[in-house]
Amino acid sequence: MANTLQYSRRQFLKTAAASSLLPSISFADFPSNPDVVIIGAGIAGLEAARTLTKQGITFIMIDANDRIGGRVYTNHSVFNVPFDTHAHWMRASPANPLLDHARARGFEVYRDPGRVEYFVGNRKATDEELTDLHQTDALFNSRIKHSALSSASGADDNARTALGEDFFGTPWGYTVASDYGVWDMAQDSADWSPKSWWSSLDATSWFCTQGYGAVVADYGRAVPVRLRTGASRIDWSGPDVTVTTSAGTIRAKAAILTVSAGVLAAERIHFTPSLPSQKQQAIQNIDMALMNYIGLLFKKDIFGFGQDTYVYQQQHDETGVGYLTNTHNVNLTYGYVGGSQAKALEAESMETTVAYALDGLKSMLGNNIEKQLLKGFATACGKVPLFDGAYSSVRPGKTAARRELGAALAEKLFFSGEATHTSQPSTVNGGLERGHACALEAAAYVRKIS
Ligand SMILES: Cc1cc2nc3c(=O)[nH]c(=O)nc-3n(C[C@H](O)[C@H](O)[C@H](O)COP(=O)(O)OP(=O)(O)OC[C@H]3O[C@@H](n4cnc5c(N)ncnc54)[C@H](O)[C@@H]3O)c2cc1C
Repeated sequence: MANTLQYSRRQFLKTAAASSLLPSISFADFPSNPDVVIIGAGIAGLEAARTLTKQGITFIMIDANDRIGGRVYTNHSVFNVPFDTHAHWMRASPANPLLDHARARGFEVYRDPGRVEYFVGNRKATDEELTDLHQTDALFNSRIKHSALSSASGADDNARTALGEDFFGTPWGYTVASDYGVWDMAQDSADWSPKSWWSSLDATSWFCTQGYGAVVADYGRAVPVRLRTGASRIDWSGPDVTVTTSAGTIRAKAAILTVSAGVLAAERIHFTPSLPSQKQQAIQNIDMALMNYIGLLFKKDIFGFGQDTYVYQQQHDETGVGYLTNTHNVNLTYGYVGGSQAKALEAESMETTVAYALDGLKSMLGNNIEKQLLKGFATACGKVPLFDGAYSSVRPGKTAARRELGAALAEKLFFSGEATHTSQPSTVNGGLERGHACALEAAAYVRKIS
């Protein structure tokens, strides 16, 4: 998830190495009659657990995975240096408690230096071309803003329609659209909503040398979690909530559900009674957008642009790769692909995906760079049933879906996770805020009925 034109975007917007593998805990280690059951130990679940603990509310927390963190994970074995296989950009909109946590616990965090190098074919863009690029960025913002603000009562265009075909005929049209679209929202411009984008908070980005996933694993290190325990049914018909899991049944006064919108849409969890039609419709109106990272580790700094520099080539469609090069000064490059191109590459082998990202760099820097490649690795989060994609994206015209998805049922079944945040969706910090808010509501409910 990246956006390098955010500096100009801000002018328009409202002027605006810890391991997360933990031993599995048996139910005997948990309270026998918990107040709350939390499903999912991603950031929303971990924050919900921390909040309930502070509130003096008992809980059982389960996750079907063999680790905590969900869609935030730092891998250390692929490259022998920290590699965030999912979230890498620490968004602060305007604050992110994980930044404070990282600093307090001795992680190294630093602000994204915002360095970008633009290429036209195999040469750097000229000053004149860069001026043209910034004008295209301004045009993008004014057309998206116009579409977002003029759309009435929920209806809005998709971004492609809002921008107009003439926009894509300009030299930098596809590059700018890719930067905001496939490389950030993980959606083709025909699939994302200007209105929804406009209502999301602008953010600065930070990096953590040890990895964002390592920070989240550390944040949740003291939270008791029953791992490798999947929920398959939630019965919210009686006075309690009963969750059927792969390790038995849990009964609690309330439940906080944090699984992704993709897991809900795939109906991996069944509900008794069935979810009301408005909730089902909200799930259908939220896409699980697809973004994948392609890590390329080089023997040395083949770029010479400084650490954490974005390298972009003028695009002619939305199938290109965005690059964050020399990450943390360890010669690791993150390539990122989103939208339909990410889907197409997931149907291929990982070697094909790595070659695709390498070819993009070769077309800018020459074929010789291949000799400097030590190793490549690509993620495929659309193939992980516990996520079913990367992050949520509201369909054009369906902006209300996040609020509808996030509404509690019968006062005791809480829907949490990033997809339910109305102004910071699709982010780690958005998931954290929703975990916190749902836990406070659950605590208030438990107190009310006790
Ligand atoms: C490739 C990629 C890049 C991203 N880039 C960024 C970025 O740069 N910055 C940023 O802020 N965000 C980024 N994100 C988004 C961010 O990772 C998510 O918004 C956030 O981690 C979601 O947290 P969550 O707790 O809501 O959900 P999750 O992390 O999905 O947590 C839900 C948990 O539920 C578990 N689960 C699923 N089904 C079941 C079941 N049936 N029973 C029990 N447990 C179950 C899962 O294992 C998971 O641990 C990125 C995501 C991806 C995939």
